[in-house]
Amino acid sequence: MGPLADRQLDVVVVGAGFSGMYLLHRLRQLGFSTQVYEAGSDVGGTWYWNRYPGARCDIESMDYSYSFDPELEQEWEWTERYSTQPEILAYANHVADRLDLRAEIQFDTRVTSAVFDEATARWSVSTDQGETVSAQFVVMAVGCLSTTKQPEVPGVDTFAGPTYHTGRWPHEGVDFTGQRVGVIGTGSSGIQSIPLIAEQAAHLTVFQRTPNFSMPAKNAPLDAAFVRQRKATYRQHREEAKHSPVGVLLDIPEELAVEADPAEREARFHEGWEAGFLFGVSRTYGDLLLDPAANELASEFVRGRIRDIVDDPAVAEALSPRNHPFGTKRPCLDTGYYATFNRENVTLIDLHASPIVEITPAGVQTSDREVELDVLVFATGFDAMTGPILGVDIVGRDGQPLREKWSAGPRTYLGLATAGFPNLFTVTGPGSPSVLSNMMVSIEQHVDWITDCLVALREQGASTIEATVAAEDGWVEHVNEVASMTLMPQANSWYMGANVPGKPRVFMPYVGGVGLYRELCATVAEKNYDGFETLASLARGLAHSACRPAAGATGPSGLRAT
Ligand code: NAP
Repeated sequence: MGPLADRQLDVVVVGAGFSGMYLLHRLRQLGFSTQVYEAGSDVGGTWYWNRYPGARCDIESMDYSYSFDPELEQEWEWTERYSTQPEILAYANHVADRLDLRAEIQFDTRVTSAVFDEATARWSVSTDQGETVSAQFVVMAVGCLSTTKQPEVPGVDTFAGPTYHTGRWPHEGVDFTGQRVGVIGTGSSGIQSIPLIAEQAAHLTVFQRTPNFSMPAKNAPLDAAFVRQRKATYRQHREEAKHSPVGVLLDIPEELAVEADPAEREARFHEGWEAGFLFGVSRTYGDLLLDPAANELASEFVRGRIRDIVDDPAVAEALSPRNHPFGTKRPCLDTGYYATFNRENVTLIDLHASPIVEITPAGVQTSDREVELDVLVFATGFDAMTGPILGVDIVGRDGQPLREKWSAGPRTYLGLATAGFPNLFTVTGPGSPSVLSNMMVSIEQHVDWITDCLVALREQGASTIEATVAAEDGWVEHVNEVASMTLMPQANSWYMGANVPGKPRVFMPYVGGVGLYRELCATVAEKNYDGFETLASLARGLAHSACRPAAGATGPSGLRAT
């Protein structure tokens, strides 16, 4: 066990983004003593850190918001179809004020370790502020995309000018006027920021390793009549979204793209493109993420739009994704991204043709030229899903570090818990739909499930709950099986951990859909937490070894067959 704990708590929550905020609210309502630790200086999580120009949501504002409080959703007014980062952060602040959350959030504090003590069945949680507390439960509400990834390029620290990562943007903003700017990375963050940086910079050079599929956001001010109508039916709308595949209403027809009449198919793809919706094109036919031939039809459609927009055919071709199926990396929503490459002051460097050799004090040296720059922007993404969890030194039963347990990839039961780590929960962890869904829907579902579970344990007088190895093995197998039925594992995506050198290649999120997943989680709870073992407070020591199942035992029947 670590240093002597200063305080005894029911729950420590790590992170005060939308997960940690709602968790705190629920835990407080239910009478659990709770301390939230947050590395940032205020609430908002991803929306606190990602302040780069153009940062905005790619799920519609009226869906990307809490549903747990009908008054809140009626009183809050979103101004645009897709909210900007400042507006989402203002919303997070409004919620924190309204629910008076800050009293139990300690800001500017990073949790460094969490060590489980078997003798007391409690976690000893330490922070970088020198504090250690004791808690019965720890909930990792750390977000999926919060550990930034720098470009692993030689000389990255030698650049003479300022460098900025999109995921750690300065609060005061950056003025690029008159500057020669380089942006490395063309994922969602790069694609959102590039058009705005181009408008300000003297010259912008975009270093692209993998072209992405992006669709126009068609963002616009929200129409008052639409808002009135949505607010009138908000409850029903939210309920339907919770049971849908991705947490927003989406009708995916069963018709197959490969069987459709070509003209009709083209028209339907166009309609999807014009919808300004993340799933606009992918929702058009039922086989796009399952059949490579169908996917190629959609991919080629998007490439056709890029050719329509970009004047220089060579640049259009370089911007056209050809090394992964459409939708297997998260598609992007943009405002003027492809058209930005028609500007005189923008140059695209295709790193497949001329890779970066090194970053020098003066700029970026590729295999065929040196690009002189005043400023470098790294839009190079995140060590996704596992990075923020493993950033904390978590040690479970028998002194086992989580980093060791997950060395070949994350292993969880339902993305909520992991065997050997009693009373530790993850919100939207690997093995749950999380990043493949409207995060707000998935966050609320996990918070409700976890807090209901804590209440059930309290009522039963149980001191610990822990996923069994068998249940976890069954779930991991199921997650892999479902992913392998799709084209998703084919891309070198951050879903696969492929963007971080040396990270195990495992498809991390659960593709089964949030509706089905919600039912599975509910069934587990109804069956008195099937696949978990709980221990009564008094019987703790002896009962533990007695009721732990042997590794490889049969998993919970209800989960494997889906
Ligand atoms: P990302 O999708 O991982 O994109 C990172 C980009 O940097 C990729 O183009 C990657 O190329 C490139 N890159 C990484 N290391 C590099 C290196 N050493 N040299 C050259 N290029 C390098 O990260 P992101 O754009 O920050 O987005 C991450 C996720 O956050 C998104 O998929 C989305 O889920 C979420 N997000 C959402 C929004 C929104 O709601 N609107 C906005 C931003 C982000 P490779 O593809 O070749 O690895």
